[in-house]
Amino acid sequence: MSKENDLLASVSDISTESEFFSPVPDGYKKGKTRYVFVTGTVMSGLGKGIFSSCLAKLMQDKGLKVAPIKLEGYLNIDSGTLNPFRHGEVFVLDDGMECDMDLGTYERMLDMDLTHVNFATSGQIFSSVLNKERHGDYLGRDVQMIPHVTGEVKLKLRQLAVQSDADIVFVEIGGTVGDLENAYFIEAMRELAYEEGPNSSCFVALTYILEPSTLGEQKSKAAQLGIKQLMQCGIQPDIIACRASNPVSEKARQKISVYSSVPLKRVVSLPDSASIYMIPAMLRENSLDFEVIRLLKIEDRINLRHERKTWGRWCDFTDKMGAVNREVTIGITGKYTSVRDSYASIINALEHAGIALGCEVKIKWIETTNIIDETAVEGLSDVDGIIVPGGFGTRGAEGKIACIKYARENNLPYLGLCFGFQMAVIEFARNICGLVKANSTEIEPDCSEPVIDILPEQKKIEGLGGNMRLGGRDIELKPDTIAWELFGKAKTVRMRFRHRYEVDPRYIETLEKGGLVFSGKAPQQPIMQILELPQHPFFIGTQSHPCLTSRPLRPQPMFVGLVAAAMQRRYGQEKIPDPVEANRKVMRTTS
Ligand code: GLN
Repeated sequence: MSKENDLLASVSDISTESEFFSPVPDGYKKGKTRYVFVTGTVMSGLGKGIFSSCLAKLMQDKGLKVAPIKLEGYLNIDSGTLNPFRHGEVFVLDDGMECDMDLGTYERMLDMDLTHVNFATSGQIFSSVLNKERHGDYLGRDVQMIPHVTGEVKLKLRQLAVQSDADIVFVEIGGTVGDLENAYFIEAMRELAYEEGPNSSCFVALTYILEPSTLGEQKSKAAQLGIKQLMQCGIQPDIIACRASNPVSEKARQKISVYSSVPLKRVVSLPDSASIYMIPAMLRENSLDFEVIRLLKIEDRINLRHERKTWGRWCDFTDKMGAVNREVTIGITGKYTSVRDSYASIINALEHAGIALGCEVKIKWIETTNIIDETAVEGLSDVDGIIVPGGFGTRGAEGKIACIKYARENNLPYLGLCFGFQMAVIEFARNICGLVKANSTEIEPDCSEPVIDILPEQKKIEGLGGNMRLGGRDIELKPDTIAWELFGKAKTVRMRFRHRYEVDPRYIETLEKGGLVFSGKAPQQPIMQILELPQHPFFIGTQSHPCLTSRPLRPQPMFVGLVAAAMQRRYGQEKIPDPVEANRKVMRTTS
């Protein structure tokens, strides 16, 4: 390694002699991967993940390879134990990583399956540093925030660069600049940009322009102070994205430009948008895509023909969004009903299916805690379909079962997801198979008919972190079933799981005799993964979370089936093809 490159040393070359500590993974090619860092100022919740994923999408459209990563300040190792009520849904990746819901935004926007390398928390970083310390990897040095902890962050980013072979790694830093818990992430990116050299990195600061109703004008002071804080960390932003409820005035942009030494054309207005799918177009209108390309000096890597094709497909999708001419209402039961973020993927999956079918999907939230048999009818009389989503614990479970009974008896389209699948089994066992005591041992540990019981592999597990049956698994489909038809007669499909309980195999025969069809199961294991009722217009449940793999241009077939069935219920048979037919059509036009 040359003298001036002393700053970087391969992991095995780190010595005690030097104050420089910046381990680099084997195979790392300096200059191959460029970095875009996205930070937030003024307040959290500005949509850093949305911005970063949309910008990454524009680069991907140009034929560039992108890899996103979210750096989270909290000390949890993953998001598995976080309460969705506080933090939004736990998004599960194919490799089983339980992570922040922003990773869902990246997967949807980039139509890409991500893994644990795309998500890092302070918990992971510190645990890795402490393990190395115990292992003696720091060669007698005192282990410090700088350079060791920042070194670990940089190592993670460069490992991602090697593994993904990306042209650009998009790094989103959680929280806002000035938070104690993300300060070392910001320091790490400053160091990394310095080590990588000029044109290696691009810093984007998202900020917020206030518009107090008492003043009736936009105020940029909070934004200026926020950006100043970033500059005090030694970071000169290259782009400032001004979030606001209305388009940001030229005057406010000018003030920010003067204050931050960022040219006016790179201080852009990003007002609230009705749909996140319109944001890529907004970024293009501001030429942010080419600004980034120029800042990173990678003009020679882009493929404009590729861009014309992919952008054309995207515009077909956004055009369809504006052309919906029907409407259905889907009821969603759940105890986190006050926080839409807890069900982000389901809302997205319904939207994707609706757009593909030319139908707006309205959602009615149904709090089931107080529902008993008769009252279910009231809440469900005006919905065209119902989803019982994933859940844990006893609260509201009987209300969900009552809703499912209503859906089954009244031909109301039903989609049960994970817990909703389990509750459908209980309802069927009780009311059709005569097992009146049927329940899940999660709800009633000593129940005499445990149709839903803990998975054998889960019995010996202690603690709660990262140990459910997690991640992508293949599902074997039974020929000539609705599920098989919905998935285009595929032999197997892959979906993501996050559960501890399952249908107790001892009850399968009884349930099937009663008329319940298990149309999807785990290969070589008696784990039931999809159920359906053949006589019902649309009654289907899955132990998995199909919403996690729905993408704007590839809507998930079970959701397409549900929305089509809901449309059929509202508008009548002659106008809408049956759910399977509708899904086939969607698959033909979107794949
Ligand atoms: N609580 C159920 C289980 O652990 C369902 C989990 C879920 O809905 N994600 O099996």
